[in-house]
Amino acid sequence: MGDLRARLEEVDRRIADAARAAGRDPSELTRIVVTKFHPASLVEDLYRLGVRDVGENRQQEFSRKAAEVAHLDGLRWHFIGQAQTNKARAIRAAASVVHSVDRARLADALHAAAADDDPVLDVLLQVNLTDDPGRGGVAPDGLAALAEHAAGLPTLRVRGVMAVAPIDEPPAPAFERLRDCAAVVRATVPDAGWISAGMTADFAEAIAAGATHLRIGSAITGPRPERG
Ligand SMILES: *Cc1c(COP(=O)(O)O)cnc(C)c1O
Repeated sequence: MGDLRARLEEVDRRIADAARAAGRDPSELTRIVVTKFHPASLVEDLYRLGVRDVGENRQQEFSRKAAEVAHLDGLRWHFIGQAQTNKARAIRAAASVVHSVDRARLADALHAAAADDDPVLDVLLQVNLTDDPGRGGVAPDGLAALAEHAAGLPTLRVRGVMAVAPIDEPPAPAFERLRDCAAVVRATVPDAGWISAGMTADFAEAIAAGATHLRIGSAITGPRPERG
């Protein structure tokens, strides 16, 4: 717990430094702790340290862990992984925000999965910043159409964009392209001001490029255990 607290404080200090260096107010940023491959007990430890935003990228692990910590009041789950349409109900049931909407069919499935008393679901449109279609995300030239489609679904609220930095390119120029993508979405949904970008290796660059939601795993949780 002491190590976890120290890493969390260190990351938050680096986030604040990067924000100030970019002329931004650190309080505009949401730091999401990615807990994938770690047990639910880690989520409880993080909660005790004040963390309220946590993220997972695989649906089964996400659903299981969310159920295990359902007693933690005010905890917000961010689903950040590639999603199958047939898992839309399970994702919707536990997520406060889905960062990875990258096709109209997935938006439709999340919309159709809404139960009568479900709140509107915050979603981000994931953009592929690479030329590799296997990496997930809509190609930038398909983003405007996806934004229009998702904006027409009344149980979803389009909040902005999400991306993962390419492996074979420095993150800063890629995140600048993401900033342009955010403007494309705002042409359809003017208040969609969220930009989810930045992981352990590149969150300072993401903050400099306007990220509002950082998805940070190993710098806070420590190395990930073997996936089971
Ligand atoms: C795992 C993951 C992260 C966090 O990665 P770290 O490098 O451990 O900070 C962020 N975003 C997505 C989509 C991930 O899958």
